[in-house]
Amino acid sequence: MIRIYNTLSREKEIFKAITPKKVNMYVCGPTVYNYIHIGNARSAIAFDVVRRYLEYRGYDVKYVSNFTDVDDKIINRAREEGVDEMTIANKYATAFDEDTLPLNIRPASVRSRATEVIPDIITFVQDLVTKGYAYESQGDVYFRAKKFHGYGILAHQDLAEMEANAAGRLNDEEMTRKEDPIDFAVWKASHSEEEISWQSPWGKGRPGWHIECSVMSQKYLANTLDIHGGGIDLAFPHHTNEMAQSEARTGQKFVNYWMHNGFVNVNNEKMSKSLGNFTTLHDMLANYDDPMTIRYFLATTQYRRPINYSSETLEQARGALDRIRTGYRNLLFRMDNAVVGSDSTIEDEIKQHVRDFEFAMDDDFNTPNALASVFELVTLANTYTDENEVKKATAELLLESISTMMGIFGVDGLADRSELTTEQKSLLEARVVARQMHNFELSDQLRNQLRDLGISVEDTATGQRWKHER
Ligand SMILES: [Zn+2]
Repeated sequence: MIRIYNTLSREKEIFKAITPKKVNMYVCGPTVYNYIHIGNARSAIAFDVVRRYLEYRGYDVKYVSNFTDVDDKIINRAREEGVDEMTIANKYATAFDEDTLPLNIRPASVRSRATEVIPDIITFVQDLVTKGYAYESQGDVYFRAKKFHGYGILAHQDLAEMEANAAGRLNDEEMTRKEDPIDFAVWKASHSEEEISWQSPWGKGRPGWHIECSVMSQKYLANTLDIHGGGIDLAFPHHTNEMAQSEARTGQKFVNYWMHNGFVNVNNEKMSKSLGNFTTLHDMLANYDDPMTIRYFLATTQYRRPINYSSETLEQARGALDRIRTGYRNLLFRMDNAVVGSDSTIEDEIKQHVRDFEFAMDDDFNTPNALASVFELVTLANTYTDENEVKKATAELLLESISTMMGIFGVDGLADRSELTTEQKSLLEARVVARQMHNFELSDQLRNQLRDLGISVEDTATGQRWKHER
């Protein structure tokens, strides 16, 4: 039984899929005007872990996400660089795909761009106007927020407070266009010939930001979603407005479980351009040689909690992941001389740790507690490796359990030698040959060379083992 913290009720609720064993899940994607920052990467990873765990639990998950490829930020960026909007959007959409790949973030079942659903957006807006939920004003179309019963409840916002905030943000011109300061744009009139725009019943214009997610989730999933996810900063206004638009149009509940992930702070400070600590994933990958450590770092904090990113916390993650890799690899080395059979007491222990892992993940995806079970398995692997006799079936179960659980965190390739440089690899191979030839002088030399390169080598009855020295 999986329980999920629902932002709307502020409670952990028992998860019940609308259609048994199927999950419809929508997660807001980035605005493609720049490389994504570490906070966007965290969100994509948090929901990738949710998706992987639901699949592990036997659900067939359809995962839809978007690229916002028309918006003020993109228009401004295009103007700055003297290119058109689609050049900017294409560049950063491609960069998203390239940068999320080494982090093992699985592609969405459907990833749609706002500009691919413009006719659907126009129909959606027309429906809102027909139902009296939206009105045209000087080429813009606004949603009547107060007409929607319960506007603001998702983010637990007080209506009077929202009104005061909204009024403070608007200039006089916007005030005259809106019936009420808290109304929000679902369609925006185009004010310049150079800007990207589409013909609509209200003149030339483009969609407001929030509308695309309402349209795509209905088009590619259903009127009611099992899960809708995104960063906590999206709860208001973005998700609040998505909810109002969608429910106003369909008269049905929009989302059963609203999930929001926490922020990423950099060196204990909120990330912002003005503080100079704005960290893009693109730069992180360029400056760091082990993407799986970044993945591990971002996946193993409980998704609702904040993450503090610093070179120290990333190094801690690397050390922890190396412990898992070393335990896994040592067990793998022992497979070469494992004997047929199984050890039932060890297997019972393994199964108990797997159950503990599931118990933790069932509890609103408590990854730190789940990770503790993985470390129990690694400890077990280390002690089992030291035994005189290792049974093949038991060692296999242990290896498979560790890799399956780490796979749910999206961390794979535990024994992958690609983490070694070409030089390290060839020295290790040369050393195996040297020992076969009984050239111990050479093998000692190679060991020293490897040590200088950060690899320590140990000879055991079953062959050479290595690990990173850090
Ligand atoms: Zn959205």
